[in-house]
Amino acid sequence: QARKRFGQNFLHDPGVIERIVRAIHPKPEDTLVEIGPGLGAITEEILAVNPRLQVVELDRDLIPVLRTKFFNYPEFRIHEADALSFDFSQLADDDRGLRIIGNLPYNISTPLIFHLLGQAGVVKDMHFMLQKEVVQRLAAVPGDNNYGRLGIMAQYFCKVQPLFEVGPGAFRPAPKVDSAIVRLVPHETLPHPAKDLGTLQAVVRTAFNARRKTLRKALGSLITVDQLQSLGINDGLRPENLSLADYVLIADLLVDQKVSDAGSEEVSND
Ligand code: SAM
Repeated sequence: QARKRFGQNFLHDPGVIERIVRAIHPKPEDTLVEIGPGLGAITEEILAVNPRLQVVELDRDLIPVLRTKFFNYPEFRIHEADALSFDFSQLADDDRGLRIIGNLPYNISTPLIFHLLGQAGVVKDMHFMLQKEVVQRLAAVPGDNNYGRLGIMAQYFCKVQPLFEVGPGAFRPAPKVDSAIVRLVPHETLPHPAKDLGTLQAVVRTAFNARRKTLRKALGSLITVDQLQSLGINDGLRPENLSLADYVLIADLLVDQKVSDAGSEEVSND
């Protein structure tokens, strides 16, 4: 019986499973980690190529099912844990990086992706099944309806490649939404590195909390119209019109300002 609270929709369409595994293209030397193996539909196909696969599964009732099903793979490792707080870097045993895969529980996919982006430094690539709309948000560019915090932060760390769509009929029970597979490949060098990641995140969050407003209003608590104009950014635009590079410019200006404010405070304290 699938559990709703764990976002369980098990894949059962062999054609879809094969297509996913082909897209992942597992190799025997990879360090592969699957999030949410469920009943092992994808797990089984990966193990056939790479018997050192490790999985992270939260539903404790599934652990014995997986143990029994894959008893003939002695190197297969099950981590009974919550992927939202799991330290994936502990699994990276060489500098080739982790290959993370998963048909993710849709109820937690956004926080889970943010958690994984925070560990992008130890990741080679990630392949996920997600609600189609989440894949669209990940890949969105300025001006798109679903352009926002998720896409900007994903593209800060990774190249985002939507691969193909999967209909509800491939799962049991069938979800109410369409799904899609996406590949995320962490950049070797960040194309737009911010001076301070926390500041960038704060700017993007503040902007999209008021996505219908102009930048003048949406970012008014952080930056002046003059400052925006000094960066060549028109304050009459909306948050959805700015590129990642623009957001990094704004965040860096705030960091510089904080540094110079701190400097002048020091002087006045003398
Ligand atoms: N991979 C299987 C498949 O494709 O048939 C199952 C996919 S199902 C959509 C999501 C899986 O993630 C379930 O097995 C569920 O128990 C597990 N899961 C849910 N929340 C989790 C969490 N926080 N950490 C790890 N696994 C979780």
